[in-house]
Amino acid sequence: MRSRTFRKTKETAMKKNILVLGTGGTIAGAAASSTNTLSYQAGVISIEQILQEIPSLQDLANVRGRQVAQVDSSDMTHDIWLTLVREINVALAQADVDGVVVTHGTDTLEETAYFLNLTVHSRKPVVLVGAMRPATAMSTDGPMNLYDAVVLAASDEALNRGVLVSLNDTINSSREVTKTSTSLQDTFKSPELGYLGYILGGQPYFYRYPARRHTADSLFEVDSLKELPQTEIIYSYVGAGRGIIDAVVASGAKGIVYAGLGNGGIPAPIQKALADARAKGVVIVRSSRASSGIVTRNGALDDDAFGFVAADNLNPQKARVLLMLALTQSNDPSLIQDFFRTY
Ligand code: ASP
Repeated sequence: MRSRTFRKTKETAMKKNILVLGTGGTIAGAAASSTNTLSYQAGVISIEQILQEIPSLQDLANVRGRQVAQVDSSDMTHDIWLTLVREINVALAQADVDGVVVTHGTDTLEETAYFLNLTVHSRKPVVLVGAMRPATAMSTDGPMNLYDAVVLAASDEALNRGVLVSLNDTINSSREVTKTSTSLQDTFKSPELGYLGYILGGQPYFYRYPARRHTADSLFEVDSLKELPQTEIIYSYVGAGRGIIDAVVASGAKGIVYAGLGNGGIPAPIQKALADARAKGVVIVRSSRASSGIVTRNGALDDDAFGFVAADNLNPQKARVLLMLALTQSNDPSLIQDFFRTY
């Protein structure tokens, strides 16, 4: 393993210092043949090896790697999140670290990115990157995506834009981005709100800043936490029954995100079950199974009367991240509603 600090030589002194934290995923995946892009093992190639195979990275910045985890992102855990955020906060507090890139599986990348957006306390760039084709594939997208992510992490333009997600030549806000296609390379989109910008020819092109509070201005502080509150997501559909809600409450959940219909609508029997859960102190957040738009407070349902929280335009998986962090501060739904207006 390389040394934890950047070596300063004459040639490297002018370059930015970028730390690349590896967590696995398809960008570190390997298949038996170069034409196989579907059945492969994610999270097997080390971050050191990935970096060594892209020597041009060292022209961009002084880049060093560190393996934090090696998982398919379907196996991402709260423990890895807590380790990751601590590593990033410690690294970015150092004067000789200018930015961080996190390599990650694409399936849960948006959740990790939004979690870090709320818990990293720095204005320096943090960029999450992945790949849709394993590293062994013909025309794999990993190396170019990683190159672009390092470009971004080393750029002054990326300062104070919150945690960014960069794949396929695009730059997205971690709050807005979501994986939209199971298998296409052009999968990460920010529905309705659009990209923050592009990366082309080794240069970022930005068009806007995220409007919601993030990173250095976030009040969420998890560095000393050992675990995060149990929060679950429940999905709505015609004929939905209350059994799953009762089971989740019995399992000890402190919060539930209900992925409702349209503007967060909830079928009548489920309203009753969620009201019962609320009476036991569980915080209920109404989100939507629709892929874009806002769930408005007191819109499809009287949140004031039920004591529920409206998720604004966060998708259910992002609403769960914010709810979990909100529950580290309070279980008062009106304060938690303020968090959903602010972050
Ligand atoms: N299953 C993989 C993962 O999320 C998919 C990917 O990385 O593209 O780790």
